[in-house]
Amino acid sequence: MQTCSFCGRDVMFLLKGEGGVGICPDCVENARELLDTMFPEQASKPATKQSNDTLTLESLPKPREIKQLLDSYVIGQDSAKKTLSVAVYNHYKRLLQPTDSNEVEIEKSNIIMVGPTGTGKTLLARTIAKHLKVPFTIVDATVFTQAGYVGEDVESLLSRLLQETNYDVAEAERGIVFIDEIDKIARKGDNPSITRDVSGEGVQQALLKLLEGSMVNVPPEGGRKHPEQEFLHVDTSRILFICAGAFDGIERHIALRMNRKVVGFGATEKRNNTGVAEADTLLKYVAPQDFRSFGLIPEIVGRLPVITYLEHLSKEALREILTAPKNAIIKQYQKLLEMDGIKLVFEEPALNYIVDCAFEYKLGARGLRGLTEKVMKDVMFEAPSSGMKEFVVSIDYVKEKIDDE
Ligand code: ADP
Repeated sequence: MQTCSFCGRDVMFLLKGEGGVGICPDCVENARELLDTMFPEQASKPATKQSNDTLTLESLPKPREIKQLLDSYVIGQDSAKKTLSVAVYNHYKRLLQPTDSNEVEIEKSNIIMVGPTGTGKTLLARTIAKHLKVPFTIVDATVFTQAGYVGEDVESLLSRLLQETNYDVAEAERGIVFIDEIDKIARKGDNPSITRDVSGEGVQQALLKLLEGSMVNVPPEGGRKHPEQEFLHVDTSRILFICAGAFDGIERHIALRMNRKVVGFGATEKRNNTGVAEADTLLKYVAPQDFRSFGLIPEIVGRLPVITYLEHLSKEALREILTAPKNAIIKQYQKLLEMDGIKLVFEEPALNYIVDCAFEYKLGARGLRGLTEKVMKDVMFEAPSSGMKEFVVSIDYVKEKIDDE
C-alpha cells in the first residue's frame, strides 16, 4: 500500500512524481473532472462506468444463477444462499422501478444473518459484492460509536459506499451495505431498565435512521474531493442493508422461547449424526423476538424483516472447504508451490486430521487456515530452494507440525 499525497488514502497504485509525491487514480479522475468544468469545450469523453442505466430485467441474474455462483465459493449454507439470492434479485428489480410511477411500490427488505464465526457470512457477502453490478461495501459495526464519542459516526458507512461509486450520490443510493458484527452493538443484559448500555443503544438508534430510509448528510472523506461542498446528501431509502453477527448464545433465547429443554448447554453434549451439538442446530428457528431478547432494540429488529441463518459447519463441510471451493486453501498452496515447479500432494488422512482439529477448535473454517498454515510453514520455507519435484503431506507430518507447537 502507498499513500496518495493528495487525498491521503492508502491505495494499491500511485502515479509517482518527483520528490516522492504520488497521486492516486481517484484524484487523477477528480482533476480531470475539474478541468472539464473549467474548460468544457475541451472536455474529455466521460469514462465508461459500470452503471445500472443499462440494467434490464432480461439481463438480471436470476436467484437460481446467483445461488449457483455462491455455490462455487461457499460450501453448504443453502438456506442463507437462497435468501440472499432472492433479496439481491429483488433489490435489482426495485432499482428498475421508476421512482415516480403510480404502480405498486416494491419496498426493500433489509436482511439479518445469524451464524457462528467462520461459517461464511462475510464470504457470502464478498462473493456477491465481487460479482454484482451494484455498489457494495462491508463495514464493521464495532467501529461505530454514538455521535460525540471517539470512533466513527454511523454515517461514515455511507462515506465508504460513496467512495465505491467515486462520489456519485445517485449511484450510491442504489447500493448494498453489509454491516458485520451487528451483535456487538446489542444492549448488554436482558433488562433495559437496569443495565442500560448507552453506547450500544445509541449506535443502534443512529443506525435505525439509516435503515428506515432518510436523508443523511455525509461529509465527503478527506474534504478535498468536493471543496465547494460541505456535505453530500444521501437518501438511504433504496439502499439495501444486510446485517450479520454471530449472536453467541442466542440459542439459549431460542430454546427458552420454544420452551425446549436442550441437552448441550450442560455437561453432556448431545450430538446429531454430523457431529454438531444439538443445541447448535437451534439457529434455524431464530425469530425476531430472539434478537430483541439478545439486546437489539425492537425498532431495529422491525427494520430487518428478512431473517436467515448459517449452520455450524460439520466435519464433512470442513473437509469440503479445504479442497473444493474455487479458491480452496489447499488449492492455493498447490498453486504457490507449482510456481516453483513442485507438486504438492495431501494424503487423505492428513486432510482429515486437520479437519478433526479445526472441528474441535470451534472456529468454523477459520481454524482450517491457521492449522494449514502451521503445517505448511516449513515446507513453504524449505521447498523452493531444495530442488524437489514433489512434496507429500502425510498424517504423521501433519501431527508433528500441529501437535508440536
Ligand atoms: P464469518 O462467518 O465469521 O463472517 P467468514 O466468511 O469470514 O466467516 O469465513 C472465514 C474464512 O473461512 C473465509 O475466508 C472462508 O475461506 C472460509 N469459510 C467459512 N465458511 C465457509 C464456507 N461455508 N464455505 C467455504 N469457505 C468458508
